[in-house]
Amino acid sequence: MTRLFDDPAAFAEDALEGFTLANADLVTRVPGGVVRAFEPSTPKVAVIVGGGSGHYPAFYGVVGQGFADGAVVGNVFTSPSTDDALGVCRAADSGRGVLLTYGNYAGDVLNFGLAADRLRDEGVDARTVLVTDDIASAGIDEKDRRRGIAGDFVVFKMAGAAAEAGYDLDGVERVATLANERTRTLGVAFDGCTLPGQDAPLFHVPSGEMGVGLGIHGEPGVSEEPMPTASELAERLVLGVLAERPEGATRVAAILNGLGSTKYEELFVTWRTVSRLLTAAGLTVVEPEVGELVTSLDMAGCSLTLCFLDDELETLWRAAAQTPAYKKGTASAAGATGQRRATAAVAVSAAESLQASAESRATAGSLREVLEEVVLTLIEHERELGDLDAIAGDGDHGRGMVRGAQAALEAADAAVVAGAGAGALLERAGAAWAARAGGTSGVLWGAALEAAGASIGNFDEPDARGIATALDAALAQLQRIGKASLGDKTMLDALIPFVAAFAESVAGGADTATALAAASVIARDAAQATAALSPRLGRARPLAARSIGHPDPGAVSLALVIGVVDANHN
Ligand code: ADP
Ligand code: MG
Repeated sequence: MTRLFDDPAAFAEDALEGFTLANADLVTRVPGGVVRAFEPSTPKVAVIVGGGSGHYPAFYGVVGQGFADGAVVGNVFTSPSTDDALGVCRAADSGRGVLLTYGNYAGDVLNFGLAADRLRDEGVDARTVLVTDDIASAGIDEKDRRRGIAGDFVVFKMAGAAAEAGYDLDGVERVATLANERTRTLGVAFDGCTLPGQDAPLFHVPSGEMGVGLGIHGEPGVSEEPMPTASELAERLVLGVLAERPEGATRVAAILNGLGSTKYEELFVTWRTVSRLLTAAGLTVVEPEVGELVTSLDMAGCSLTLCFLDDELETLWRAAAQTPAYKKGTASAAGATGQRRATAAVAVSAAESLQASAESRATAGSLREVLEEVVLTLIEHERELGDLDAIAGDGDHGRGMVRGAQAALEAADAAVVAGAGAGALLERAGAAWAARAGGTSGVLWGAALEAAGASIGNFDEPDARGIATALDAALAQLQRIGKASLGDKTMLDALIPFVAAFAESVAGGADTATALAAASVIARDAAQATAALSPRLGRARPLAARSIGHPDPGAVSLALVIGVVDANHN
């Protein structure tokens, strides 16, 4: 259970505020997350880590000398937005470039990747390194599809130490990539975790069993085995990770990581055997960590991470660090600091002129009404969408859709007051959706709405053909960013048939209402038909088999929204 909260929906923000208050000498709040409280004394590469909340001390607990320069902070188990990542990178950049490093999850990959693109457009050299240490989530031949779990800590530490030592961006990127290539993790779960404000865990492990191959977003293990003793578990983990031991490796950094409600003493009991077995396998363990480094709220379970070291990685692993959650060596060895940073003010963009025709302004007003209905419907279905996402994903889809649609509605309200036309309203609603919702679906919905808005414009009243063109633009943008195809079990499996059916009706002479009515039925059926598919992308992929028989949450929510638009179109 997560028992202490005020507003469950604000849990991550409230925790971040308290953390910043408690560590004001080390970190400073900036738009999108936190950065070190002090600038570096000389310019250095900025290492930016991040992801959703719920993993403390990952990610903001490791912002400090010798470690990360900043952390981008998302909602619980939800990727931060592109704007969040940009805010933190801009605040932390001291002129030698930025490395964004994070676990391999679709939403993080999209948002951090887009942020890196934008930074490069602004003239800041930016690179990304994804962590892919979870051996249970894909085979070694598909290492780049593996999830990032506790190995995040190793890769972030190595990159942070290299940047502190004065490496240039190429060097920091090289070391982070090497650390990831040499890091392997296997985890087990004894019980699920509960999102703040919910009364039941995201999953249960049957009593007397453990889930092997857990994720850190409340995803259950990929298989179940009888509950072992501590030493049997140690053996299972060591054998699992050593199955991928590189030839010639003799020295390892090791982490026995607690997931949130497994006690330190239990970890130490287990470590006793892990340590003995590693030594017996001819490995020297260098400065092991036993404790909570990457958690999953209150999940019960643990994982073993090994990084097969070379001399350079060993030096970086041993290097000093001073952060709120992790201290090693002395402060002076961890790097010199310069000026204290001012808390960055949130940038307010100058009001742009909103030119639009009277017809387009009237359409904007109607769109705002429809959006209000969309919010109400999503709230009604929030739980159901979350449950659907929890089967093989992380359970945040309902929350993400509600947050995104609410932000879009607030932006639409402001846009209507400011005299926006239909195109500008959709563009602003989309930007707000992506910025507030986070996650994979958030960035995709935001980008799709923005593309539709740009296509519709602010002068012509969109007729059926204009809407068909806007839908094409939205679909193209979604595919460009998400890189999914028909049959991957995503929202595209509802969107593609919907867009095609709409266009076909319009080509046959139908007006908007008629085309919408026909196509919304197609979307609903297509969303339900995704139950038969196996996910090939996103957080659900490692647990693909569990998802068969259940429709894709993103496809279901898309069909719901289309249904609301159909019912409220006039
Ligand atoms: P996250 O997966 O980051 O937790 P959500 O739970 O909000 O984000 O959204 C999950 C949905 O996003 C999936 O059900 C799927 O429909 C959609 N999705 C995931 N990856 C892609 C992609 N690459 N392209 C299109 N849609 C995707
Ligand atoms: Mg999800």
